[in-house]
Order: sequence, then C-alpha cells, then structure tokens
Amino acid sequence: MRIHNFNAGPAVLPEEVLLEVQKNLLDYKGAGLSVMEMSHRSAEYDKIITEARAALLRIMGLGDDYEAVFLQGGASTQFLMIPMNFCPEDKVANYIDTGTWATKAWKEAKKIGKKFEVIASSADRDYTYIPKTWKLTENPAYLHITTNNTIRGSEWKIDPDVPAGVPLIADMSSNFLSRPLDFAKYDLIYGGAQKNIGPAGATFVVIKKSLLEKQNSGIPTMLDYKTHIDKDSMFNTPPAFSIYVIGEVLKWIEKNGGLEAREKYNRQKAKILYDVFDNSNFYNGTVVPEDRSWMNVPFRLPSEDLEKKFISEAKAKGMIGLKGHRSVGGCRASIYNSLPMKSVEYLAQFMHEFEEANK
Ligand SMILES: *Cc1c(COP(=O)(O)O)cnc(C)c1O
Repeated sequence: MRIHNFNAGPAVLPEEVLLEVQKNLLDYKGAGLSVMEMSHRSAEYDKIITEARAALLRIMGLGDDYEAVFLQGGASTQFLMIPMNFCPEDKVANYIDTGTWATKAWKEAKKIGKKFEVIASSADRDYTYIPKTWKLTENPAYLHITTNNTIRGSEWKIDPDVPAGVPLIADMSSNFLSRPLDFAKYDLIYGGAQKNIGPAGATFVVIKKSLLEKQNSGIPTMLDYKTHIDKDSMFNTPPAFSIYVIGEVLKWIEKNGGLEAREKYNRQKAKILYDVFDNSNFYNGTVVPEDRSWMNVPFRLPSEDLEKKFISEAKAKGMIGLKGHRSVGGCRASIYNSLPMKSVEYLAQFMHEFEEANK
C-alpha cells in the first residue's frame, strides 16, 4: 500500500516508473545485470544517458542551440558555478531574491568575491510574493531568478524579459517540467532532479551554447561547464542510476501528453487545495493569490498546536510530508508532477473533516 507522499524532496515518483525500474532491476532489458552495476562506458548505458539528454531538450521544445547535461553537487553547487563561470571581473551579477534558495544563490556570488546586486526582493513582506518590477544594473553579467520557491510557496507566472545580450538564468528545481514555459527565453536552466523529475543525486543543467562563449577562463575542471558538455556528462562517473530513473520519468511525461497535459493536471491539483483555503477561515495560505505556487502549497492553521495535531492526524491517515520547512514552520503540501490527483483529493477531504472537528 503506497502512502500519500507530500514530501518536498526527494519526493513522489510515478508508480508506473517505479514498476518499470523494478521489472528491470536485476536484469536490465536482457543485459544480465542491473543499471547500478553497469559500466557507464557500456553501450547499454550510453543509450540510457543519450536518450535522457535528448528527451529533456525535446520535452522543453529546445533545439541544438542548447545542451543538456547531468551533473552532481545539487542545485546548491550551481549557485557557485554560475557566478564563477559567467560573471567576469568587469560585470555585475544581478539577482532577484524571492527567499531561501534564491537568497542562497546570490550569497554564493558574494562568497567568491564577485560583484553582484540584488535588484529586487520580496523580503519586505516576508517573501510572500514575486516582485513585479526591477531595474538591471549597468553592465549586468546575467539576471538570476528562482522560478518556484519551494519553501515559501511562490511561483513566477511569467518568463521575465531581459534586454538582448543579458543572459537569463533560472533555478527551476521545484517546478521543472510542471508546465510549458518559454524555455527559449532562458540561457541557463538548472535544478536538482529530486523534486519533479527523478531521485536525488543528479542535477540537470540546460544551457544555451551561445552563453558558453561568455565563459570566464581558468575555471577548475569539475566546476567548468565545458568539461561536462564536451564529454557528454561523462567526464567522470555520472550518477548513473539516478539518470536512468530520470530518463524513465521523462518517457512517462512524454507518453502522458507532455507539458500541456502536466499543466492541466497540476493546475487542477493546485486548485483543489487553494479552494479549500479560499472557502475557509481556518486554513490560511501564506502567499498572495496571484503568485501561488502549483507545486508547493504552504498554509497555516489558527495555532501551532492545531498544526501539530493536523500533521500527526494526517500521518495516521496515510499522508506524510505535510510539515512546513523548519525555517518557516506551519504546514506545506508539495504536490509535484508525479503526485496523483487522488492524493490531493484525499488531503482536501481530510482538511474539511479536520476543520469541522476543530474549528
Ligand atoms: C531543493 C532546492 C535547491 C537545493 O537543491 P540541492 O539539489 O539539494 O542542492 C535549490 N533550489 C531550489 C528552488 C530548491 O527547491
């Protein structure tokens, strides 16, 4: 019996994918061994990683002016690699700070002594919204945004415009492939796989080839994007099994109608929960309605005691992961791509019952 999994990451995966992986666990398609035991230089594995990289670009509708690679070190290492590779001495890295991970991104630029500026921030209202206006600095190296704020529960609903020549860089860890975006507007898109597209261990990076021409020189080998692009993500041993499972998730997305279908499904899931807030004085969403995330839904109950009770009763009924991040408290339901509608319906039903019993 599978639990209703509202974990923020690592998170729920499609049951069909897990069954497919299980079927091939001991003997991958007749190769006589598991993907975990394979050489990453074997023909079987080469096919797995090559297909996964191609599927990524295909789903995003990007052509061969982009590269897709799988790295390690999580989205957190990208916070460092981006300014290291793409902020030259005479330019200023521009960041929009929408909380937690977005903050960590610019702090890394600061740590390595790059010129940077936070050109807009929602810190003034406790990160409950997405800034709508900003002004780039003179001579920006790039603009960095975080398209979905996993902990705060806000999400960009537009792909921001930048002047020609200014690279747009986005951390899409927690809403990647949850709906169609204008991906071609971005020069670099990255994230940890463990929220929407697979198990932990792999980081996806999709990069426009023209951005590589702006790269700084003298970058240490493992932190240099070119190292990994030139060797097709195989400079060193990749997180082979994670990439295999990501490939299966990508096949599942394509088989089930691609990003348009995901958008429809995810929009409906989010609406079920937000409707509960909007029809109740008991549950309060923490984010302004127009910027609410479709992936991470934080909410408060009238007291911390009720929140504790809510989380523990939910657990007894087979729902996990509803505790808010320790930095903000409250409750949060992460309702990623692979979370079935029935889990959200089950949670909404429980929310009604809990409110009736405790209001
Ligand atoms: C989880 C998360 C991260 C951190 O990812 P790691 O892979 O654990 O380094 C960064 N950004 C966002 C938006 C996240 O949700």
